Amino acid sequence: MYTTLEMLIDGRFGRFGSTVAEPVLNPATEQPLAELPHASRDDLEAAVAAAERGFAVWKATSAYERCRIMRKAADLMRSRLEAIATVLTLEQGKVIAEARAEVATSIDILEWYAEEGRRAYGRIVPGRVAGVRQMVLKEPVGIVAAFTPWNFPALTPMRKIAGALGAGCSIILKASEETPGTAVEIARCLQEAGLPPGVLNLVFGVPAEVSAHLISHPKVRKVSFTGSTAVGKQLAKMAAETMKRTTMELGGHAPVIVFDDVDVEAVAKVAAAGKYRNAGQVCISPTRFFVHESRYGAFLKCFTEIASSLKLGDGLDPTTQMGPMANARRLEAMDMFVADAKARGATVTTGGERPANQGFFYKPTVLADVPPEAKVMHEEPFGPIAPIVPFRNFDEVVERANGVAYGLAAYAFTNDEKRATAIADALQWGMVGINSLAVSTPETPFGGIKDSGHGSEGGIEGLEAYLNVKFVSQA
Ligand code: NAD
Repeated sequence: MYTTLEMLIDGRFGRFGSTVAEPVLNPATEQPLAELPHASRDDLEAAVAAAERGFAVWKATSAYERCRIMRKAADLMRSRLEAIATVLTLEQGKVIAEARAEVATSIDILEWYAEEGRRAYGRIVPGRVAGVRQMVLKEPVGIVAAFTPWNFPALTPMRKIAGALGAGCSIILKASEETPGTAVEIARCLQEAGLPPGVLNLVFGVPAEVSAHLISHPKVRKVSFTGSTAVGKQLAKMAAETMKRTTMELGGHAPVIVFDDVDVEAVAKVAAAGKYRNAGQVCISPTRFFVHESRYGAFLKCFTEIASSLKLGDGLDPTTQMGPMANARRLEAMDMFVADAKARGATVTTGGERPANQGFFYKPTVLADVPPEAKVMHEEPFGPIAPIVPFRNFDEVVERANGVAYGLAAYAFTNDEKRATAIADALQWGMVGINSLAVSTPETPFGGIKDSGHGSEGGIEGLEAYLNVKFVSQA
């Protein structure tokens, strides 16, 4: 059911010069699924050389033809959706329905960029002198080095691959070593669809070594990273040395503000479904819940009931509602966040521990009355923990909601239109959902501010991220 793990360099799949074999684990069982090869330094150099040749070919390929190949790859992915989703669940743990939805969204993204690449319009600016033509042209930036994490093994690679290919760039992707199989499956579809050799290259290795090599390489012109803020800052510094363009999709700490005029039970249902999706390992996951004091008790009760009723298990079991965490590091982090909050006076209304079975499972957890200084209120938990606290008034909750270093996504629920506009204006975040947690679609910009990074993936902005502007003045 799993896949053969290989790298892709210059249109060929293989283990190349790998002398290292890293086990990939199934987080539901902790059993190894396969061994992952690591790129040698020569392999990385070969990938850059291949990407250079691939760029020359792909840039000269018409946007119409690029679109045709990308759409063919999307069709192949659609025909293999069940197999790819199974690989994704095996290596990452999320429930199979979520894995299917992730693969379907990734196909959607590929098709969207295939089309949008045909609309990389420039413009003509009227000249100051008769007969002068002033042209603003869009050109692909060149070779892209992309680094993706383990929480969305299809979606995060696809955002970068599709954006780069749609713009006419070549790309070297280092997908997560913990969830490599999905990226391999995607790469196979693109190669089989007729992508010229070297346009997409896929490598694995020690993340710090691969990123140092590729980011310092003078031939690489763009870096796109999704992962933690700490690593993003290191990579951005490195990219500055060779003045590369960067897109940084980093962590989040989404506040959810629930005003007093809503149906609290309905909102609790939506909020809990969002919180425990992918066991909370989502950068836009609803994270801190601020509920108006007059509705606090009702919301907490309802949310706790939903959390405690969720069925944990292997993601491949169709009755499972929440899978394991993706790796053992997250379990340790959950234990730390809960212990810290309890020590500072928070109450655990459900969960707060690991269930007594094998696999990286952690119970859906709700923390009530959490003091602001608790770590979970300002460090990204990236797991199934929901701190729920009361608030009194608009200004106070805005200050608390904005009062962290992150700026990715924020949410608010209200039926009052004026208040909806006011809160959307007051929230200093890159994406704001009002009465909705849906802030991620292929055609809309996805990205953060402050410590959550910079740049957007998705929307026309996502294509612009892979395009340079060239001005031509022709007399
Ligand atoms: P981490 O910070 O070491 O790694 C985060 C990601 O970056 C991983 O995919 C890792 O392979 C990669 N990485 C690490 N060092 C790298 C380097 N020098 N060069 C290139 N890539 C590198 O820790 P982690 O335990 O994997 O994740 C911890 C935290 O990361 C989470 O709590 C969460 O805050 C954040 N995270 C965010 C996202 C996101 O979607 N924005 C995804 C995964 C993890």
